[in-house]
Amino acid sequence: MLLIDIFQAYVDDKVTNKQNMSEILKELNENSYNLFNVITQCEIQCGCIKSYDTLEYELKNINYDQLMKLYINSACDECREKIEAQIGKCILSLTSVCSLCGINIADIFIKEHRNIQHHCSANK
Ligand SMILES: [Zn+2]
Repeated sequence: MLLIDIFQAYVDDKVTNKQNMSEILKELNENSYNLFNVITQCEIQCGCIKSYDTLEYELKNINYDQLMKLYINSACDECREKIEAQIGKCILSLTSVCSLCGINIADIFIKEHRNIQHHCSANK
């Protein structure tokens, strides 16, 4: 059993079974919005996250490695903790959405991994 399967089973037991889809989707929306705010604060208040103008890049013209180099290892320890905490909340909400739809979240990781590999190999 994968770690993420154990995580999903635990989330189902402790969280998902106590909420309905509407509540979880609202929570996911709030968590995504809060993640945006946390990252914006890190960028504006701390400055450790550099303000790359990624919008000028079109995803089709930049490969995954290049995109990740723009972001990885740019957050300071304090901001990293805030971002990780908020991403954790997003993952928790997404996991609950998966469970209410009868979807194994590990399957999504596998499929997305394949999609990214396909996308990157198509752009080489
Ligand atoms: Zn920082």
